[in-house]
Amino acid sequence: MTQSHKALTEFHWLIEVLQTVDVGILVLDLEYRITAWNGFMENNSGIDSVNAMDQSLFDVFPKLPQDWFKHKADTVVQLRNRAFTTWEQRPYVFKFSNNRPITGVTEFMYQNCTFIPVISTRGVVQNLAVIVYDVTDIATSKIELNLVNQRLAQLSRTDGLTQLHNRAYWETLFETEYMRLQRHEHEVCLIMLDIDHFKRVNDTHGHQAGDEVIRAVAKEIADNSRGTDISGRYGGEEFALLLLDSDTENSYQFAERLRKKIAALQVVTEAGVLQVTVSMGIACWLPRYQHHGQWIEAADKGLYRSKEQGRNQTSIQSD
Ligand code: GH3
Ligand code: MG
Ligand code: MG
Repeated sequence: MTQSHKALTEFHWLIEVLQTVDVGILVLDLEYRITAWNGFMENNSGIDSVNAMDQSLFDVFPKLPQDWFKHKADTVVQLRNRAFTTWEQRPYVFKFSNNRPITGVTEFMYQNCTFIPVISTRGVVQNLAVIVYDVTDIATSKIELNLVNQRLAQLSRTDGLTQLHNRAYWETLFETEYMRLQRHEHEVCLIMLDIDHFKRVNDTHGHQAGDEVIRAVAKEIADNSRGTDISGRYGGEEFALLLLDSDTENSYQFAERLRKKIAALQVVTEAGVLQVTVSMGIACWLPRYQHHGQWIEAADKGLYRSKEQGRNQTSIQSD
């Protein structure tokens, strides 16, 4: 076998491999005209190699962002260095439809691409090769995993019965706010709220009806809070509300309005229509608090006083 015949045979199988390999291979000249276009590109674009050859890439893919692509390609040619794009930066370079029915969640093929300067035997760059990897499976799994993680994070912060923040998460937010107050003093008030004689509700009407009451009170709290308020279910039938940028007077008025609304609620349960009242304690932030726990204790003292003085009322704890 002559040297040139051997080279030709090798070239032939090389072409065969490029044609069948499961990545897109596309070679351009410096005017962005297509000089190679493999089977993957044919199958996914629906354009035969014969029709793609010598065409401008931008005619074949009119939606390709030209400026971006040219900048990328020119940098590769000038620096004679490879460049990459990942699906995370840019979901795809060439819009192909997703042909993996299993993944099904996306209509297009996610791609990673490599741009390679093709250096001729004379040492000049006359072509640019682009390799296209189908990473749809990886991308969709990762996207789905992220969504599940977000959902889990949200579930771990939320109380299942009331959809308010649960105690652990509320306390994290409360601590953060407390720390912030060490640096920037603000008027922030804490309200602790507890349903009156709740044991009676459970004992008389059952636990299910009790749950309905807790849910209704929580909804009233949520509906009456501002976006900046931080409210959570602190215990069984006890709630904590942090009112940002609210002084003692405003907080008291807010608490009284909420108290009256809750007292007027007609909670429809399987055991009939129930009514409850709540007691509240308010403590506004004071610089003397050494620890966020002291602040909760102060609001608890106010709450205790409301209970002692006959319930269905709000007390301010100012020391
Ligand atoms: P007070 O006016 O002094 O607050 O009287 P109370 O009966 O409400 O007393 P307390 O706050 O100590 O009672 C809380 C009761 O709430 C005890 C518990 O069985 C009930 N409880 C706690 N969590 C839940 C819950 O998720 N669902 C129901 N149905 N009941 C709960
Ligand atoms: Mg109670
Ligand atoms: Mg209680």
